[in-house]
Amino acid sequence: MSSENKDLKVLVADDSKTMLRIITNTLKRVGINNITTAEDGMEALELFKQNEYDVLFTDWNMPNMNGLELVKHVRKLDDDIPIVMITTEGGKVEVITAIKAGVNNYIVKPFTPQVLKEKLQAILGY
Ligand SMILES: [Mg+2]
Repeated sequence: MSSENKDLKVLVADDSKTMLRIITNTLKRVGINNITTAEDGMEALELFKQNEYDVLFTDWNMPNMNGLELVKHVRKLDDDIPIVMITTEGGKVEVITAIKAGVNNYIVKPFTPQVLKEKLQAILGY
């Protein structure tokens, strides 16, 4: 991966601390160190309103505000930020629903670091 991703600001929302750690570690492995984590959609949305991010990774199932609601709120504020849904909800209906809400890419759990890296490359275009 190119060195430009080192400056990327990434927001990750997941209610599982284990998943947050896995995603964070994987991002660090591809050279991304500017990572902010949120434990639900509500926290992620507040962070999003107060800061600038280049990419959003979000879980679907979370308390307080789920990932789908988060995506809808974020899309009202920002048409451009790449959003990747990371979820166990890998059914066709769920994928279509997420894409309609504005998700750019989709990762089904469990995933390998290579998959996350490839999705990141796909959305960032390198
Ligand atoms: Mg969850």
